[in-house]
Amino acid sequence: MRLAKQCTLAAVAAIAVCLSAWGQGIDYAKIEILTEKIGPNLYLLSGSAGADPGHQDAAGGRIAVLAGPDGIFMVDAQYAQITDKVVAAIRKISAEPIRYLVNTHLHGDHTGGNANFVKMGALLFGREELREEMSRPVAVAAGNAAPVRDPARLPVVTYGMGDPVKLRLNGEIVDLIPVRAAHTGGDTMIRFENADVIMIGDFYRNYGYPFIDTNNGGTLKGALEALDETMKLAGPDTRLVPGHGTIINRNDIVPYRDMILSVQAKVQQMIREGKSEEEVLAAKVTAPYDAKVAGGLLPAGAGTSADRFVRMVYSQLKGGQ
Ligand SMILES: [Zn+2]
Repeated sequence: MRLAKQCTLAAVAAIAVCLSAWGQGIDYAKIEILTEKIGPNLYLLSGSAGADPGHQDAAGGRIAVLAGPDGIFMVDAQYAQITDKVVAAIRKISAEPIRYLVNTHLHGDHTGGNANFVKMGALLFGREELREEMSRPVAVAAGNAAPVRDPARLPVVTYGMGDPVKLRLNGEIVDLIPVRAAHTGGDTMIRFENADVIMIGDFYRNYGYPFIDTNNGGTLKGALEALDETMKLAGPDTRLVPGHGTIINRNDIVPYRDMILSVQAKVQQMIREGKSEEEVLAAKVTAPYDAKVAGGLLPAGAGTSADRFVRMVYSQLKGGQ
């Protein structure tokens, strides 16, 4: 009931979030925004714990804010329902106008607030593929009116695969680095060269098992490639900031990638033996990692985060991906 009420009361921009898995059961009123300084003029904004069932450790997706006289550059926009709290946190950092916003990927916990920031004057950047993914009509349940979706939530400046888009502002060089289909089909990493920080989005996560959104163009192969690319791009001291979970460095990617490769090999073997998806799930192939993966056995989709991961690996390998 509370969710239904929130959807009625919330701004038009929030409807897509309410309809998606990212919006279910979230206590928006309870979310606080926590700010962490990570560079001379670079800050991370995270939602507090215990208010978002899909992200128990920190509500929504992490935001980065680069502040300075050229205006504020932001990575990701959180849920639409908490834009006022995000703006209040930004105002504690800087009074400059919010001029630029880029999305790491399309999910509502990263893009829900897009339209709100665009209406404050931000120019929105994103992958061409992300724009296409976000433009697709939302499935409407019988009897419900089609949701009105605000076009302001869509990127104005788009780019495909190829060289990074570079922005020079506030003493920084910011690279928007396109990632081949990984967590989604339109992922971007955002690198702050001088601060030596890369916002890597959600193709890596250390809370729950890997989530690859194959319905929105994500691929297992692309996620593995993205991990390799990140390790090459990062120096020994580069801080890699995922959309959720703790900050890591390039060495932390190694066991994560090895875990994916090991699960992939086991599932591949079972496919060769003619096993069905249900048989593969029942074999609990993630068992050796379950104690190490925080949140790995929490509900996610139709089962646990481990089940969702194994199902994805199975369907990608079955489909020859
Ligand atoms: Zn995501």
